[in-house]
Amino acid sequence: KEGVYLEIQTTLYDKNDHLIFVRDVTRLHLLEQMRKDFVANASHELKTPLTVIKGYLETLDMFKENLPPSMQKGIVNMSDQSVRMEHLIEDLLLLSRLESNEKREEDQWHAMQDFSSAIQKMATPILSEKHQIRFEITTNDRIYGSYNELYSAFSNLVVNAIKYSPDGGEIVVTWESSEFNGVFSVKDNGLGIDPRHIPRLTERFFRVDKGRSSKTGGTGLGLAIVKHVLMHHDAKLQIRSDLNQGSVFSCHFPASRVRSDSIPSVSVSS
Ligand code: ADP
Repeated sequence: KEGVYLEIQTTLYDKNDHLIFVRDVTRLHLLEQMRKDFVANASHELKTPLTVIKGYLETLDMFKENLPPSMQKGIVNMSDQSVRMEHLIEDLLLLSRLESNEKREEDQWHAMQDFSSAIQKMATPILSEKHQIRFEITTNDRIYGSYNELYSAFSNLVVNAIKYSPDGGEIVVTWESSEFNGVFSVKDNGLGIDPRHIPRLTERFFRVDKGRSSKTGGTGLGLAIVKHVLMHHDAKLQIRSDLNQGSVFSCHFPASRVRSDSIPSVSVSS
């Protein structure tokens, strides 16, 4: 029947017999849809008041010289927090779009070199003097997908590597491909993660250490976005990490989404 969602599970019962469980999950599905719609609508509605607040803050900022120091400090704090809120709303809207599968741009072939230079440009201003970043993306490989979504995923991993290496260190961004797959990796030697937290990292708002993350100013949605982008590209996220040693986040793309520039362009179904 239209609008009814069933979950079917089979278990081996005896040598040749199977038990089949059928569960009606229509209500769960509807509730999940309501949650997604609510988040998307609420995030969208928050955009307008925030734009107004930011506008007034910019005006106040221009005249702050005439204000007492405590008020000047207040204006700086409010501006920082409004930028943070803007990032949170942008991330919520992106995640809603990814979850709903709506308004996705058409997949196309994009050069890995283009991602490399865009990420390099984005990362340079946020690197401290204690950080070094090395890009090992030398091939002419191309990847089939949405440029904006892939850029979000790759840049989230690089920003995290920088944020969670507060004492500095080397960040290495690599792309390796074979006849079987293409792998984009970001390696850092920063704080690392206790292995028991790794399975929950891609959950929305999951943070290993709330204190650590609120200082770094993240939204807690970065890895959830990465997971959804990779799902749209038939790819998988692999996380390897050791506490106080560092982490490697790798995105594994199937061969059907990767090609070397010498091969003529063909479309793949997603
Ligand atoms: P956030 O906005 O908090 O960075 P993310 O979803 O991007 O949210 O990451 C979730 C959590 O995973 C972070 O709060 C942090 O605890 C941990 N994490 C992510 N990347 C790294 C990394 N490179 N090194 C150490 N911890 C990380």
